[in-house]
Amino acid sequence: MNDACVLLGKPNAHGSIFRFEGQASVFAYRGGPCYRCLYPEPPPPGLVPSCAEGGVLGVLPGLIDPVQATEVVKLILGIGESLAGRLLLYDALAMRFREVKLRRDPECPVCGDHPSIRELIDYHEFCGVPGGMDVTELKAKMDRHERFVLVDVREPLEYQICRIPGARLIPLGELPKRANELDPSEEIVVHCKSGVRSAKAVEFLTKAGFGKVKNLQGGILAWSDKIDESVPKY
Ligand SMILES: [Zn+2]
Repeated sequence: MNDACVLLGKPNAHGSIFRFEGQASVFAYRGGPCYRCLYPEPPPPGLVPSCAEGGVLGVLPGLIDPVQATEVVKLILGIGESLAGRLLLYDALAMRFREVKLRRDPECPVCGDHPSIRELIDYHEFCGVPGGMDVTELKAKMDRHERFVLVDVREPLEYQICRIPGARLIPLGELPKRANELDPSEEIVVHCKSGVRSAKAVEFLTKAGFGKVKNLQGGILAWSDKIDESVPKY
């Protein structure tokens, strides 16, 4: 999103939440810093917990979203002082707001003086999510009655909400002790909600000697979007 905003010359009213913390800023506005000035590269996929694992305090979006919306209204009206060049940090446990100054990085790969990124790139590859299988490919495999095992690494509660037909539930946290339930000679397709946890499962299984493991890109959300819209999103 940041790259798209910089390339189109549109400001990005940014907000992010994680556990008990939130951040907000306005990036790529009138020569101000962009998100990549702050974080030039994404963290390795193994370090990024999903919402189901990391969790977000339920009221946090209710605090950060209105900050973003307020910034958007101000930008449209051209009034007030925007958050451009400032990062607002919120710590719910300490109940404290802080602010740090941000500067544009002249070395920034997208908004710097000599940018190396001039068009949108392959973000799956960039974020290190191992190449996998598209949901339409999975559906075609099912329709052809091919032999493979579909493993769902979400939590039991998520499995109760919705599931892909034939998927077998092994929550990511139980995978190390339950991997022996799977046959390394069989083709295995792993899915979760959006593809992050399943990427970790694929990494784990591959290291454990499973040779034919694939990650379902976009998880059950993509399945709901492209294959079966009766599968609820949550
Ligand atoms: Zn930048």
